Amino acid sequence: MIRINQLKMHPGHSFEELQEKVSQFLRIQKEQIDQIKIHKQSIDARKKPDVYFSYSIDVVTTQEERIKKKLKNKVQVVKETTYRLPSVNASGRKSYKRPVVVGSGPAGLFCAYLLAKAGCAPILFERGGSVEERTKDVETFWNTGKLNLSSNVQFGEGGAGTFSDGKLNTLVKDVLGRNQFVLETFVKFGAPEAILYENKPHIGTDILVDVVKNMRTEIIRLGGEVRFHSQMTDFKCEEVDAVKTITEITVNDKEKIETDLLVLAIGHSARDTFQLLYDHQLNMRAKPFAVGVRIEHPQEMINQCQYGMKTLEDLPTAAYKLTTQLANGRGAYTFCMCPGGYVVNASSEENRLAVNGMSYQKRDGKNANSAVIVTVSPEDFGEDHPLCGVEFQRTLEERAYQVGDGKVPVQCFGDFKANQATITLGEVKPQIKGAYKLSNVRSIFPEFLSQSIEEGIVAMGEKIRGFSREDAVLSAVESRTSSPVKIQRDEVLESNVKGIYPCGEGAGYAGGITSAAMDGMKVAEAILSNWAIEIHEEFTKN
Ligand SMILES: Cc1cc2nc3c(=O)[nH]c(=O)nc-3n(C[C@H](O)[C@H](O)[C@H](O)COP(=O)(O)OP(=O)(O)OC[C@H]3O[C@@H](n4cnc5c(N)ncnc54)[C@H](O)[C@@H]3O)c2cc1C
Repeated sequence: MIRINQLKMHPGHSFEELQEKVSQFLRIQKEQIDQIKIHKQSIDARKKPDVYFSYSIDVVTTQEERIKKKLKNKVQVVKETTYRLPSVNASGRKSYKRPVVVGSGPAGLFCAYLLAKAGCAPILFERGGSVEERTKDVETFWNTGKLNLSSNVQFGEGGAGTFSDGKLNTLVKDVLGRNQFVLETFVKFGAPEAILYENKPHIGTDILVDVVKNMRTEIIRLGGEVRFHSQMTDFKCEEVDAVKTITEITVNDKEKIETDLLVLAIGHSARDTFQLLYDHQLNMRAKPFAVGVRIEHPQEMINQCQYGMKTLEDLPTAAYKLTTQLANGRGAYTFCMCPGGYVVNASSEENRLAVNGMSYQKRDGKNANSAVIVTVSPEDFGEDHPLCGVEFQRTLEERAYQVGDGKVPVQCFGDFKANQATITLGEVKPQIKGAYKLSNVRSIFPEFLSQSIEEGIVAMGEKIRGFSREDAVLSAVESRTSSPVKIQRDEVLESNVKGIYPCGEGAGYAGGITSAAMDGMKVAEAILSNWAIEIHEEFTKN
């Protein structure tokens, strides 16, 4: 297969025009092309407002040998790599019980999906509701402030990322093709094909909800089981051959499920479960993460800055990613940017308030928003306990709840600098899911953090004109940026308790939807490679 890189096309072009351009570039007839496949599509705005799509195209043609000779410096020869799922290792450790996966976020879903594909009939436990129920619970919360502690923006089928912008890009290096497999799986269950080649793919919340539902249906069709409103509240370990080994979990404080294999894909907000793991002496430690505010600007301002035009035709809504080094040596950066999106009240605990961001597939909201966050580490949490980061998050979230009187606290950047509550808004109007209150957001943070946030936004204003405008709208607190703990695992991905597999973002091995899904796959591979799983009849109807 031949690959052409950096083929430029104007936005709004047809597929036929792309074919024409390819045959011209390769100097062959269109009829001599058997297949054209878009490998990558990115945006080249270096000469804005003259903005292009830059393509990497794979071509299958009968003229390959001739092209390789004539255009050897202009084309690449590539081989397609396909992800291969390992099969059960017949000589591995014996297990006659169904593997248990706790948590149906991307990590748990992909782990359960691969185990089901391998015929291991996993049971997937999720403390929250199905995605249909959850959508209602989240809307109720945003409209009334009534929080459901187990079915909200953090908890429930699909995990934390379901009500999100559904950005799918990841920095995780991957030679086995797991990344492509994740994207292809999302397409198989209903996501748009474009995510396979877009440089910055995303599946808005409105589509992600269906993808999650279809994946659940497939896991069940393959012999797996998915249980909602089923929280793992405890587990039992026994000494097996003088090794501490998992033997059973407890669901909802009553039901006992025997198992040799427990995948912990619990996410970054399962604070009660972190405590349970700590009480059971799972090796874990506090790890650095980042906290800050969400900032909103008119999307047109960002389009103007990134593309040189306010309104767009045939171009995706403009995005940005900014970082800056602060005088105090910390880094400040933008995170989880949501073009044409909304700030969301993403709380999951009573009297504590956290925010995050989301967009719908069209990204056609008035504002652009992102988190502006600063790295914090155990040194900042004031004590050396594996869960001290959780307490640090909780303190900030309690303050945010108080400052906003239970609503999302909002402040203009000008007032943030002046450390005074906002009374009137400027041109930028908040686009927030959940009620908000004009407040003094700065008062939520210890001074080292508010100073860093201010300095960061001012510095980012040098990179994007208007980023530090006085009426930019800030809301807080962005505290769930990644997990505050790391749960130790060894080279075969097991914890210090045999049979327990820490997995995904909550365990500290992923950050984001795609990398969490890839880590779920890694854990499924480790299980399949090390265990001879034969489900015995009595365990099929657990
Ligand atoms: C609002 C928002 C927007 C986001 N936007 C993006 C984005 O655009 N792109 C991106 O890449 N990432 C985004 N993220 C981050 C992304 O969602 C996470 O990185 C990803 O979901 C982590 O996957 P996970 O499977 O490890 O954990 P999670 O998705 O957090 O899933 C963990 C699941 O475990 C369940 N659980 C926890 N404890 C128990 C228990 N004891 N018993 C049973 N079930 C339990 C929870 O209910 C939850 O459903 C966003 C996050 C949020 C909150």
